[in-house]
Amino acid sequence: MEKPEGLTRRHLLASLSGLGVAAAWPAMATPEFDATLPFNLKGRFVQGGYCVGQGAPFAELWVDGSPRGRAADDGWFYVGFDRDSASSCRISVKDHGRTTSVMLAIAPTAYDIQRVDGLPQQTVTPTEPDVLERIKRDAERKNLAFTSRALEDGFRKPFQFPLSDFRVSGRFGNQRILNGTPGAPHYGFDMAAPAGTPIRAPQSGLVVLAEPDMFYEGGLVFIDHGQGLISMYLHQSEVVVRTGQRVYPGQVIGKVGATGRATGPHLCWRLKWGDRRMDPSLMVTT
Ligand SMILES: [Zn+2]
Repeated sequence: MEKPEGLTRRHLLASLSGLGVAAAWPAMATPEFDATLPFNLKGRFVQGGYCVGQGAPFAELWVDGSPRGRAADDGWFYVGFDRDSASSCRISVKDHGRTTSVMLAIAPTAYDIQRVDGLPQQTVTPTEPDVLERIKRDAERKNLAFTSRALEDGFRKPFQFPLSDFRVSGRFGNQRILNGTPGAPHYGFDMAAPAGTPIRAPQSGLVVLAEPDMFYEGGLVFIDHGQGLISMYLHQSEVVVRTGQRVYPGQVIGKVGATGRATGPHLCWRLKWGDRRMDPSLMVTT
């Protein structure tokens, strides 16, 4: 995998700086602008990608006009670029009345159409009342976990793959046709491996959900890496961590399985930041 790249001019459409305050760095729209980058931004500037940057401690973060909480105590923050991100993303950091903004160009990602057949039909178009009730209960648990905002710093560190050996069995973002019915896009990075293969935390974080038997996801773990970045591990045959437990990079959190809506043993690895879905494999550096 290539390493995350630093911000270059092609990522930069325009910049605004300092409402009533002198610019903290050279005017970025000029061709002379080079490596003096706002926030030390680095990441993958593509749909499904992300970036991390550093502003003032606890500075307010605004992304595309919406408030996104505050930077960490050391100023670091995370911004995810959704699967369907617009072609630009505006990041604003506000601190003591000063606003510093940057407009980034987000490159498009091509998504394939993927057909998945042989799924149990009740997992594609569920109709049984007890199943619908269970799906609702599961959703409430997941939604509660997504509100977590742990004070962790794993979000700004390189990730490692959660499996040491695997075959990519489904790319992030594919448009899926399930048993012939068009479904939602696939928001995971699917890694096929034998059942029982240990799954390892890709970075440090706090376990905010650890459930052995969700309807769609089977054995499911969520890890909060700080700044609202939550990674997910689906279809596990066994979950070996519990909610509230801190994990270190490489710590075993569970085992590969085929529980929930799955046709064979694999890990579906996902990443969410607020309402944005990203490709977790883009955070991996080797
Ligand atoms: Zn998946």
